[in-house]
Amino acid sequence: MKIYLDNNATTPLIQSVLKMQVLALKYEYGNPSELYSLGEAAKQRLDEARTNIAKLIGAELDSNQVIFTGCATEANNAVFNSAIKLYPNKKHIVVSSVEHLSVLEVAKSLETMGYDVTYVPVNLDGELDLEYLQRSLKKDTLMVSIMTANNETGIIYPIEEIVQIVHSYSPDILIHTDAVQAIGKIHVDVNKSGVDFLTLSGHKFHAPKGVGALYIRGRVNFVPFFIGGHQEYGLRAGTENTASIIAMGEAALHAVRMVERQNAVRTIRDTLEKELMALPIESHIIGSHTNRLPNTTNIAFSNIDNVWLMLNLSRQGVYVSTGSACNSNEVEPSHVISAMGVPKRFQKSIRISLSTYTTQEEIDEFIKIIKKILIKERRL
Ligand code: PLP
Repeated sequence: MKIYLDNNATTPLIQSVLKMQVLALKYEYGNPSELYSLGEAAKQRLDEARTNIAKLIGAELDSNQVIFTGCATEANNAVFNSAIKLYPNKKHIVVSSVEHLSVLEVAKSLETMGYDVTYVPVNLDGELDLEYLQRSLKKDTLMVSIMTANNETGIIYPIEEIVQIVHSYSPDILIHTDAVQAIGKIHVDVNKSGVDFLTLSGHKFHAPKGVGALYIRGRVNFVPFFIGGHQEYGLRAGTENTASIIAMGEAALHAVRMVERQNAVRTIRDTLEKELMALPIESHIIGSHTNRLPNTTNIAFSNIDNVWLMLNLSRQGVYVSTGSACNSNEVEPSHVISAMGVPKRFQKSIRISLSTYTTQEEIDEFIKIIKKILIKERRL
């Protein structure tokens, strides 16, 4: 038996996406940059995928761009790279203190190059200090990058309000959002939010790993991170990962429907939390007072080691995570938990992240298994 509850780390391919991928690998092998018919057919399939991704995020392709990347990490790096090259005189950058490492580490490396970086703090509930963000803006602020939803806690950030704050200070400041965790879980609309750049990643919504996309608003200049050939309108060199992009285009159609099924996911998540909180052991759900993704629970049990618990669950075929996947070899609490100031006894949390395919039966079984583990070890 296998119960997979780590969908914020990655998701399995769904059947129709897998089928698309295999068919594309077999038949769409033409290079999409070639003008003969085999190449043109591949190019057409790429552009269909582009249209599906654009629809998923509310973007019109006639005046804006969606380019395919190797992953979300590349897209995040590309945004910063472009901004600093185009506007070398602006030396101030704003990010939240709970961004994914693919933004935070870029910000840190820019600091070593002489950039002034503001890390906007969050409170114990994980809410962003918007006044701090507002006060930090200055004449040489180049870009503000705030994620749409956090990968560890599921906390959703008020991107529309952030765009308003930033643009009422100066419409010239670029705004980027890493929406990797939001896709397929909440409505994402670049026109409603007004962001200039948006990052997404296929493997978080049932497409393959190693493919992502970057939305670039039409009015905004952009220079490529990868330099070479003229693929992707000259904005990202390198032959496109055609089969994975076509598969991601199929997954994008599903993601639209997944958003509509999130009430059911929330119901299952809420019963899970109720059951866990009812265990006779002190526990704390991180960020539970704040607007969260419907699929995510980050819970700590006082004096229970999260790695011990995760490994015991894994032995029973149940998969959850401790902090974000990229961090899970570290013993230290994650930077997100630290930034929130979670009390020490609740810092060792596990993250349980559901998908629209998670069933109530799986959650009932999970509760039975976790209880058994805790009783066996005399923790209950
Ligand atoms: N941003 C967020 C919020 C994520 O959760 C992740 C992956 O965990 C990434 C970026 C990186 O995505 P990728 O694996 O496509 O580089």
